[in-house]
Amino acid sequence: MRILVTNDDGVYADGLWALVRELSKVGEVTVVAPDREQSGSGTAVSLSKPLRASKIRAPVEGISAYAVEGTPGDATILALHALIEEPVDAVVSGINLGSNVGNDTLISGTVGAALQGYSNGVFSLAVSLGTMIDPNFDTAARLAAIFVESRARGELEGELFLNLNLPHLPLEEIQGLGVFPLGGDSYLDTVEEQIDRRGRQLFHINRGTAAPDPAEGTDVWAVRQGYAVLTPLRPGPFGDEPWSELNGLAKRLWRRLIEKPQSAAG
Ligand code: MN
Repeated sequence: MRILVTNDDGVYADGLWALVRELSKVGEVTVVAPDREQSGSGTAVSLSKPLRASKIRAPVEGISAYAVEGTPGDATILALHALIEEPVDAVVSGINLGSNVGNDTLISGTVGAALQGYSNGVFSLAVSLGTMIDPNFDTAARLAAIFVESRARGELEGELFLNLNLPHLPLEEIQGLGVFPLGGDSYLDTVEEQIDRRGRQLFHINRGTAAPDPAEGTDVWAVRQGYAVLTPLRPGPFGDEPWSELNGLAKRLWRRLIEKPQSAAG
């Protein structure tokens, strides 16, 4: 398996390297990611400016890593069409600090980077963790590796664009891995106003409070209930009934995670 790891939190983000450590047990990993945080940049691609990619010293030994002066989508495109010579088998984007559920999935740079993998015919998975503080990426990283391993074994076939969200809970408190559709809720509902030193207005768009009552059965609801949530962003080979087939697979992969001994890194 040749695996591209990218993100929208920037090439030095801990969530990305947690993913690299687990995925390098499954295949050959190359990192190509934005040189700085690009959260909320969605599917943006830089068509009107040239882009620079610089090789960086990776915090994990033996991994080639590039920092791209561009969006998450740019990073994936450069990786697939310029920086990695051999064909890539999987694009994994994350692990994002903060959930990407509901309508906000559509502005997520984590998902935007994975979209470019999918658009280029590569199996693509976006991974997010539901916390902004003191993250423990271990379970999310291990589950992502199980997905890629399952892809390598031929259990996850076809053109797939998957969004995976984990609640920030100890493994034994997570309700399991379920398949849920995108909800309609958004967290970007507050604007903070400030006056700058010259007396002019400044605005900050913030992550607001979570929707108090998300619709039952949606990804927003499920992650709140303590489920790890898998959402196919395109139906792939599952046709009109993606849920039941993918649900069976999700259950099998979750069992594999539970039965697998925890990595020493913790
Ligand atoms: Mn982010």
